[in-house]
Amino acid sequence: MTSTHAFWLAGRQATGETAFDVTSPWDGRVVGAVSVPTDAQVEEAVAAAYAVRDEFAATPAHVRAAALDHVSRRLVERTEEIAQLISAENGKPMKWARGEVGRAVSVFRFASEEARRFNGGEAQRLDTDAGGQGRLAFTRRFPKGVVLGIAPFNFPLNLCAHKVAPAIAAGAPIILKPAPATPLSALILGELLAETELPVGSWSVLPVPNDRMPALVQDERLPVISFTGSEKVGYAIMDSVPRKHCTLELGGNGAAVVLADFASDEDLEWAATRIATFSNYQGGQSCISVQRVIADAAVYDRLLPRIVAAVEAQVTGDPSDDATDVGPLVSEDAAKRVESWVDEAVEAGASLLTGGKRDGASYAPTVLADVPADVTLSCEEVFGPVLTVRKVNGEEEAFAAVNDSKYGLQAGVFTHDLQTAFRAHRALEVGGVVVGDVPSYRADQMPYGGAKQSGVGREGVRFAMEDYTYERVMVLTGL
Ligand code: NAD
Repeated sequence: MTSTHAFWLAGRQATGETAFDVTSPWDGRVVGAVSVPTDAQVEEAVAAAYAVRDEFAATPAHVRAAALDHVSRRLVERTEEIAQLISAENGKPMKWARGEVGRAVSVFRFASEEARRFNGGEAQRLDTDAGGQGRLAFTRRFPKGVVLGIAPFNFPLNLCAHKVAPAIAAGAPIILKPAPATPLSALILGELLAETELPVGSWSVLPVPNDRMPALVQDERLPVISFTGSEKVGYAIMDSVPRKHCTLELGGNGAAVVLADFASDEDLEWAATRIATFSNYQGGQSCISVQRVIADAAVYDRLLPRIVAAVEAQVTGDPSDDATDVGPLVSEDAAKRVESWVDEAVEAGASLLTGGKRDGASYAPTVLADVPADVTLSCEEVFGPVLTVRKVNGEEEAFAAVNDSKYGLQAGVFTHDLQTAFRAHRALEVGGVVVGDVPSYRADQMPYGGAKQSGVGREGVRFAMEDYTYERVMVLTGL
């Protein structure tokens, strides 16, 4: 018997009339049942957030910072237990689950630091022009209103932290909606928030079913939507509320470029190991995992066997085992989709160099070469442990290959040459270029987000705070 987890309504625990099970993608066991809020309870949470918005915006910075510090500290204390929960509901290997808790610790810490320094106000002299003589402009940022944060399954704790922590730091109330496959990590975050002195109504965690989300998305009391998830759902939300402020953190098919100067044995070992690790990291279910390797012909033949060997060295299996690198995908359906895309590519002429096998929700780490440009795997985000490798001649062709995608989240460029690095930074149509490593590097304080169809706006604590607030100018006259 599993107990039913309550959700968090305006800072207190509540239960609705129905519940759903959260199951482990590894062995199908029920990890927990989660209560679903009724329409009346959702209304209560929204009304409470809306009512408290001015009070919350005026809460002293030290109070908000102390609450954020508290959550950060408690995440440290409860790391092992929360990592086990993430691993159970998501199928993420324990080593990565612990890493995820560590990142959430940092997000709350960065947010407490930003809460202390954000919005100090900036004065601007206006007497640079005769009409402004005797006047001074002064700006401060104010919250746009209540934030609706919608999170995906793949980082069930840290991507919720990326919505909640900046909102609290900025003084904006937040309604958090976790992914249906992984709500338990978000509910634990609620436990830690409930230990703070934040005003009643300033936060709620509501596992609202997808079919009831349009009403929440449309609610005019929630002017800011911060969404992380798929391109399809993200754009549908934005299109349905064109007058709202939407931040969309969407998909990608991350490319790692290995250029001709990155050619020593040591270089190629590093590149191959990083590529193998981060194409399989979380079963490839990261928006910045490596999906495409674009290698210069000068290094291709020496790089490819190293990548295949490093991919084959990934330890697959039970996510609760400390030795496991790659666990199952989030569901058997997800693994079947990945399988069908790989099969389609192979039927169209791609060479399968390793992997290509499915067992329930698990899909073997896979490498393909010579993948035709028009198959699904070449055009869409695979979100699985699958890597395609392509040979190019020279930097220009490599950069054009990276840009030959509807997505543009991050790219990795393995080069030692500073000029090349700057040319890559100019040429690549992505939100971030990582030099000397894979595209999968993300530090939680840096601006993070997509170009093209990978999204709109930026996260990263301070950048999310800017998104949740607007600048209001005050002009002083007669000075
Ligand atoms: P998803 O789009 O299926 O779901 C994301 C969230 O939207 C979930 O909470 C879901 O319940 C909710 N949702 C579904 N239908 C909705 C609707 N009609 N209205 C409002 N909300 C709705 O995505 P997913 O499968 O959970 O996550 C995987 C996707 O997330 C991948 O595409 C991945 O690249 C992307 N992602 C992007 C980033 C980033 O920062 N760019 C980070 C992680 C994941």
